[in-house]
Amino acid sequence: MVRVCPVCNSRRIDVWLGRGCGNMYKCLDCDYQGIIFIEVDEETAQKLSNEKQQPE
Ligand SMILES: [Zn+2]
Repeated sequence: MVRVCPVCNSRRIDVWLGRGCGNMYKCLDCDYQGIIFIEVDEETAQKLSNEKQQPE
């Protein structure tokens, strides 16, 4: 399983150790910060990032 950004589907996630309330995560691509980062399997992550990068 890999953790991906819920905003831009990036897998470049920085993990911060939380201060008593669990881990915090930050997306290095869009600067989204939060505790809710979805976890998907490798195949789904690949699919999400492909969809994201497809030109119109
Ligand atoms: Zn992001």
